[in-house]
Amino acid sequence: MATGLVMNNYIGLVHFPVRNKRGVEVATSVTNLDIHDIARTAKTYGFKKYFIITPLLPQQELVSRILGHWQGDVANEYNPDRFDALSLAKVENSIEDSVASITALEGIAPLLVVTGANFKQYDGNTDDLQSKIRLDRRPMFLLFGTGWGLSASVVERADFRLVPLWGPKNENDESYNHLSVRSAVAIYADRLFGRV
Ligand code: SAM
Repeated sequence: MATGLVMNNYIGLVHFPVRNKRGVEVATSVTNLDIHDIARTAKTYGFKKYFIITPLLPQQELVSRILGHWQGDVANEYNPDRFDALSLAKVENSIEDSVASITALEGIAPLLVVTGANFKQYDGNTDDLQSKIRLDRRPMFLLFGTGWGLSASVVERADFRLVPLWGPKNENDESYNHLSVRSAVAIYADRLFGRV
């Protein structure tokens, strides 16, 4: 669990480049639930911003409309908790643009951390990641995929690949571990920054 970590942490939900069922690189549509639920997790665990990443203009406009509604005065009066959570959310065109935004805010480029259910190679668990954050003293940008997961091009250029989340081994070790992205975000956030 985190003790005294500098809280310069960001979450990114990637809609491109991700893989589809056939492993082809695609752009997925934004899911309304992902906007709200992940914003609430980001707020709960002290993330500074939640980037909703899509290059598709109609999707950017849709998300901006949703955020505009929930970041307005009426929403603040009607549901201040949701207003607070969604005020962290920001639409971005790409991972690169998000990194540029964070670099401008922090004065240093973030550590690019990626997640996936089926990484065959990885750099460590959340404790190892916390040690790296302390050592490097850089903000963390924690990326989650949609569709069938982050494209290889994203995973390969990451600074840190988190070990996948698994349940208990079953007798013939055919464990299932394909969590919804909302669940995966919540689990990692709590392991990184949750209070005991
Ligand atoms: N439509 C799906 C949904 O409902 O979330 C999208 C699935 S998307 C591929 C799931 C994302 O959540 C992955 O790209 C990864 O970022 C994360 N994820 C899911 N299961 C995971 C696991 N077992 N370990 C680590 N990350 C996981």
